[in-house]
Amino acid sequence: MAEARETAPGLDAGDFGTGEFGTGDPEALFGSPPAAPTSNPASGGVLGPTGRPWPDLPDPPPLTVHGPALIIAMCNQKGGVGKTTSTINLGAALAELGRHVLLVDFDPQGSLSVGLGVNPHTLDSSIYNLLLGRDIGFAEVITGTSVEGLDLLPSNIDLSAAEVQLVSEVAREQTLLRVLEKIRPHYDIILIDCAPSLGLLTINALTAADKVIMPLECEFFALRGIALLTDTIAKVQDRLNPELEILGILGTMYDARTLHSREVLERVVSAFGETVFHTVIRRTVKFPETTVAGEPITTYAPASAGAESYRTLAREVLARCHAE
Ligand code: ADP
Ligand code: MG
Repeated sequence: MAEARETAPGLDAGDFGTGEFGTGDPEALFGSPPAAPTSNPASGGVLGPTGRPWPDLPDPPPLTVHGPALIIAMCNQKGGVGKTTSTINLGAALAELGRHVLLVDFDPQGSLSVGLGVNPHTLDSSIYNLLLGRDIGFAEVITGTSVEGLDLLPSNIDLSAAEVQLVSEVAREQTLLRVLEKIRPHYDIILIDCAPSLGLLTINALTAADKVIMPLECEFFALRGIALLTDTIAKVQDRLNPELEILGILGTMYDARTLHSREVLERVVSAFGETVFHTVIRRTVKFPETTVAGEPITTYAPASAGAESYRTLAREVLARCHAE
């Protein structure tokens, strides 16, 4: 989506104009606001949270044949924007729709693994072994999760050593691609949870991926890093992976009750247009709770607005993928 690249350069927090800061006690930002519309309003004309007409997002038909997987990197070099939360919950929602999903933890901090109840310190093997080991198969490293149809390729701090060791490898940017090529036939969707950096690990993720989803916190400084990220994506497209496309920008931690959040989302939509997903993830304390529980929100609080948002996102992601 070239238009995203063209609008991004020069876009920084200064473009926000006057924002509404410090809207009070952070606790007041939390809570469970009403869910976003999840079905098509037959009367038409209902606006979604991004200010655009809410689209028809039907449940996709069940799959009769599985694989080969579409690989999607969840990427933003800023930490704490909802990459890991979105990877887990989008993955779980896609699994609910009957997709065979693999989540790849590609952050040495192992938050994705923790969020799915796996202790990264006690792993016998992790993605590190697949990247740099020569004598281990992926089936020995992939583990199931509490959700049917949702598997995990875990990571831990060993992965930070991989980043150093990969520097001296031949075709170092394609190392993850080589690993995932073998796994791809066994899944419908592979989501890669990237580390908060644009280093060699993230370049590997972007080289392996067909699509990128950029989670973007609905906060004043959130757009700052997006120009750098779209620049990096453009370089990867030029030099390593011409097929790579931005699938969408996902607004996260949105609070419809603050002018600030609404303004940020407005700016994002005016800068990136249709690239922005209609689905927006609201801020709710349920998400930090799910990390402690070690399971997705779709099973921890299945009827919550947060769970419903990720189900809507799953339908939107599949609709965008099938639209091509
Ligand atoms: P990243 O992977 O980009 O660093 P995380 O997904 O780990 O970001 O999210 C950072 C923190 O914010 C975590 O504690 C997570 O539970 C919390 N969080 C994520 N999404 C939301 C949300 N929509 N509302 C409230 N808290 C959230
Ligand atoms: Mg993370």
